[in-house]
Amino acid sequence: MKTIGLIGGMSWESSIEYYRIINEETKKRLGGVHSSECIMFSFDFAEIEDLQMKDDWDTATQRMIQAAQQVERGGGECLVICTNTMHKMADDVQKAIDIPLIHIADATAEAVKANNIEKIGLLGTRFTMEHDFYKGRIVNNFGLDVLIPDDAGRDSVHQIIYDELIIGEIKDESRVTYQNIIGSLQADGAEGVILGCTEIGLLIKPEDSPIPVYDTTYLHAVAAVEWALSD
Ligand code: GLU
Repeated sequence: MKTIGLIGGMSWESSIEYYRIINEETKKRLGGVHSSECIMFSFDFAEIEDLQMKDDWDTATQRMIQAAQQVERGGGECLVICTNTMHKMADDVQKAIDIPLIHIADATAEAVKANNIEKIGLLGTRFTMEHDFYKGRIVNNFGLDVLIPDDAGRDSVHQIIYDELIIGEIKDESRVTYQNIIGSLQADGAEGVILGCTEIGLLIKPEDSPIPVYDTTYLHAVAAVEWALSD
């Protein structure tokens, strides 16, 4: 088994999900008392949020590179960045380390493609929905048609992530807001929806959605186990 290296804390509410899923999946595949060999660097999210809000992506990139190098020095044999948004600098991070970065958008898009879905909705932070690093990768590398909510919808999805989910608040009214937004994406032709923020799975379960959900936390964590147990 290879050692999975993780950068977490963005937020820790989803990092614990990664830890749980990685260990459950390892146990499922190996049986008995098996669990994952892994190492995590965990950020204070207040620092990361501050850099995001200031649009200081250069400093954010430097901090992500430092964290990735720390994970590599600590024995991580691959890198798993436990957030969609902070894949914005994934290419720069990969260039600064010698271990492979397992990209969250690739793990997700592969699952979508495996179900023969062509038109997919995407929910996440404004950065993930609006900047090109995520959508562009899915469109260009996997040929998917990606739909995002309208401006008001993007605003609601983003605010609920930062004001509630990241601090562990799961509210019924926010679930309804997300359900309405997913309903609009479905009306526009989305055959499924990517939960493209690692905390959304805490709010929206498959049964809450009229179309199939692709939970990036789950898919990314399973991809890491797959890699760790491969030859
Ligand atoms: N965990 C979130 C994501 O997957 C948002 C937090 C962040 O900005 O990193 O995008």
